[in-house]
Amino acid sequence: MTLTVPKCPKCEHTRFAIKSFDPIDSRYKLVAVYCAACGAVIGITEYDDNGALIRKLAKRLNIRLD
Ligand SMILES: [Zn+2]
Repeated sequence: MTLTVPKCPKCEHTRFAIKSFDPIDSRYKLVAVYCAACGAVIGITEYDDNGALIRKLAKRLNIRLD
């Protein structure tokens, strides 16, 4: 299996950056992953790390998650 390098679908650049933003009419921040060369958005993810938040909450409630 060959190792594939992610490429921008628009310009084939291989470096990316992230930026948080507030969508219109949304109560939640999101994070856009975009091409560092042309700015094309290649993905959107949640601002909060839900896994970390769940582990933090479980710890405070003394709940084991395993
Ligand atoms: Zn690009």
